[in-house]
Amino acid sequence: MSQFWSSTVSQLTPYVPGEQPKLPGLVKLNTNENPYGPSPQVIAALREAAADSLRLYPDPTASELKQTLADYHGVSSAEVFVGNGSDEVLALAFMALLKHDAPLLFPDISYSFYPVYCKLYGIDYRTVPLDDTMRIRPEDYTGPCGAIIFPNPNAPTGVNLPLDGVEALLQAHPDAVVVVDEAYVDFGGESAIRLVRQYRNLLVVQTLSKSRSLAGLRVGFAIGHADLIEALERVKNSFNSYPLDRLALAGAVASFRDEAYFQQTRTAVIDSRTQLTRQLAALGFEVLPSVANFVFARHPQHDAAQLAAGLRARSVIVRHFNSPRISQYLRISIGNPTECAALLEALRSLV
Ligand code: PMP
Repeated sequence: MSQFWSSTVSQLTPYVPGEQPKLPGLVKLNTNENPYGPSPQVIAALREAAADSLRLYPDPTASELKQTLADYHGVSSAEVFVGNGSDEVLALAFMALLKHDAPLLFPDISYSFYPVYCKLYGIDYRTVPLDDTMRIRPEDYTGPCGAIIFPNPNAPTGVNLPLDGVEALLQAHPDAVVVVDEAYVDFGGESAIRLVRQYRNLLVVQTLSKSRSLAGLRVGFAIGHADLIEALERVKNSFNSYPLDRLALAGAVASFRDEAYFQQTRTAVIDSRTQLTRQLAALGFEVLPSVANFVFARHPQHDAAQLAAGLRARSVIVRHFNSPRISQYLRISIGNPTECAALLEALRSLV
């Protein structure tokens, strides 16, 4: 620890992103990326933006992208915020919207970035256990509550909380912001965006990293009441008034203009998930019902860490989770059919 560090920095336990190894022939199913590339129209838009305009600053208001998102989701652009990946949008939401007079509530288990942000911003938090079927139970979110955040579908379980459950949380805590992190919603969940006009305390956060295969471009967005969006804009403009670079703006807009490609690739992922779930069950795995681009599964006779190590030795990388509450699970991203086949072949030699 350096004598020059602030007390906040000394106490941080930073998030460790998933591995990005570059070994040839590796089947990489550890960070929930999309196995299909982005739309060819996105690549064309990136080429054009790179050739024409990198000399110039980007649009500080991101107006074309905001309008594109507003039209796509049936809201106004004053109800849209954009940022560098949903991680940045979430970080700004933690800074701008969470009250400090009562704890932030989020599920145990969920996205491991949330406690990291809490430490960064000095936010008190309380985790609420999932029920025995690994579901979020809205009735358990009682007591003092400064705000609520959860992924829907949850990560790393992939399990969905139906919209009536989201509404129950919004109604139970009308004075607290409820942030619904919909990073994986396009793979079979139901978005809470259609509730934003009804609930002023709802902020929905989405990303282009998963269903639009643009993890490398870093684009995320939030949709909510204009008051919440204004708070995010204030914080953002106090840091860096350019929300996104020119390539990100151009690529993101193009992605929303190619609906056919989006539907085709997201359906392919959903079909592979259905098939993989069946095949894993046939190998003796218990697989949680996932509406995400990954499955959360465990084998009653095999240790998850050993399975993950065995897979790695066979050039397949997955994540494993083992905590007192969530024991012996593998989280496996849905690959393309060839990758899923390689995973299954490796597993057959291990279980
Ligand atoms: N929320 C959840 C639940 C996630 O799993 C992730 C991906 N790690 C993110 C947000 C952040 O995604 P990105 O910053 O790429 O938009």
